[in-house]
Amino acid sequence: MKIGFIGLGNMGGPMAANLVKAGHEVTGFDMADVKIEGIKMAGSAAAAAEGARVVITMLPNGDILRRVADEVIPAMETGAVLLDCSTVDVESARDVAAQAQAAGLSALDAPVSGGVGGAAGGTLTFMVGGDEAGFNIARELFDIMGQKAVHCGPSGNGQAAKICNNMILGATMIATCEAFALADKLGLERQAMFDVVSTSSGYSWSMNAYCPAPGIGPKSPADNGYQPGFAADLMLKDLRLSQQAAETVDADTPMGRAACDLYAEFVEKEDGKGRDFSAMLPRFEKRGRG
Ligand code: NAD
Repeated sequence: MKIGFIGLGNMGGPMAANLVKAGHEVTGFDMADVKIEGIKMAGSAAAAAEGARVVITMLPNGDILRRVADEVIPAMETGAVLLDCSTVDVESARDVAAQAQAAGLSALDAPVSGGVGGAAGGTLTFMVGGDEAGFNIARELFDIMGQKAVHCGPSGNGQAAKICNNMILGATMIATCEAFALADKLGLERQAMFDVVSTSSGYSWSMNAYCPAPGIGPKSPADNGYQPGFAADLMLKDLRLSQQAAETVDADTPMGRAACDLYAEFVEKEDGKGRDFSAMLPRFEKRGRG
């Protein structure tokens, strides 16, 4: 398949490389000077999109997506698919999709979970919003870049699924970390805490699969000095997107807001920038109630 790929950063680079390895013809564009084996680099986003059956974007945010979409949509052929894999606000995803559909294209928002490791290993999960026809065309690409693609409904629903999932994750990680710090102060061994909670009603992905306490449970960023993994900065981005969406539709999300405020403090005022999002545990360890 002829594919245009715009945004070849930490995630987009390895995703595009996997498409090339699977035999697809990929033309790329990035603002930065990027070189990836087997990918022909174009001089502009529009040039990368010309003649492509699918144009994939993997960009930092909704404003940049809107700018790139303005450029590539007029360059794309009728019936082609604009497949955005970035994490952006629901509104931008829906506006860009409407613009693409008005130009006779299929549009999909397909944010991912799995991080840089998942992008390199081709094991991402895609949460997809958009029309069935586009989903069916993109399915073989999802199979190469990931292990699972869930069609969540119309445009914007992929982004909605992503931010709802990460709102649960952020709040759950904080609850897990504060509970560990409380257990420490109560004299409860961390291993005993893990053994109980991981098999009781407090269990979660944060506790069972990504335990924030070093040396406990399966290997996680806690065992690697809290190197990400999933950086606290990216968690903050997703929590802000969930709060922005909640405001737009008047949804009451007090736990999501508390998680967002805490990660903002951690990343912007404390030492959380560049650390894994589970480094909330050493943060709580050091604190009292005051
Ligand atoms: P990144 O900053 O490494 O890559 C973004 C790329 O886009 C950069 O190479 C940049 O030069 C390029 N770019 C910016 N503006 C451009 C423009 N106008 N035209 C062309 N290229 C442009 O970021 P990343 O980590 O690859 O993340 C990409 C997206 O994936 C983000 O939306 C992020 O939230 C999401 N995401 C990241 C992770 C992760 O672990 N890194 C996990 C899940 C989702």
